[in-house]
Amino acid sequence: MNPVWSVVLVLVAFVIILRLKHRRKGHKDTPAKYAPRIEGFQVCAFLSPQVGAGCLFDHGMQYGKGFRRKVSPALPHDEHCQCTTIPFVHTSTEVFHGALRNTGVVRSSIEGLPQEFGQRLAERLKEMTSQPLPEKVNEYITLAGVTDWDTPMEPQIEQFLSERHAYLTKIQADGGQTQTVDGNQQESETPEQTQPGSAAKENDPR
Ligand SMILES: [Zn+2]
Repeated sequence: MNPVWSVVLVLVAFVIILRLKHRRKGHKDTPAKYAPRIEGFQVCAFLSPQVGAGCLFDHGMQYGKGFRRKVSPALPHDEHCQCTTIPFVHTSTEVFHGALRNTGVVRSSIEGLPQEFGQRLAERLKEMTSQPLPEKVNEYITLAGVTDWDTPMEPQIEQFLSERHAYLTKIQADGGQTQTVDGNQQESETPEQTQPGSAAKENDPR
């Protein structure tokens, strides 16, 4: 072969390799920029001894552009509500790895309560709204199951529960309705959006 042609061939091959490399690199860079993101908000309750059922049931609810539920529940839920809504953005990879299963940050009036126990407490308080209120405070604490949680914060949680028991007992004696779940239902737009406790269902992104 003519040596000139050989040089030209080598040059052409070189240029092709360079372009391919460049293109591959470009491909690697683009997904981060264009990856679909799930943006939304999450309702985070504040646990106080007076926390209402609306707060407990809507805690963790996710809503926003990418969700079936587009709007926040009507806040505040009631006179004691200290719920906040926290914005979040997840990449599709994070969603794939379960980011949407995040149950939401629990804040509480128990100083220094670790998230793990805040979550448990929120869960138990929610479940207990549908159980009859025990007459005695120690029965209420037993019902909550705190003694099995194996935490040094047990005394603080029990103190919280005894305050809650006193509060609920008073409401019951007054014939008040504060602990019913209908706090939201007067103002909401459609029946679907007013169901507290449907938070989990509404967490599937659309
Ligand atoms: Zn609330």
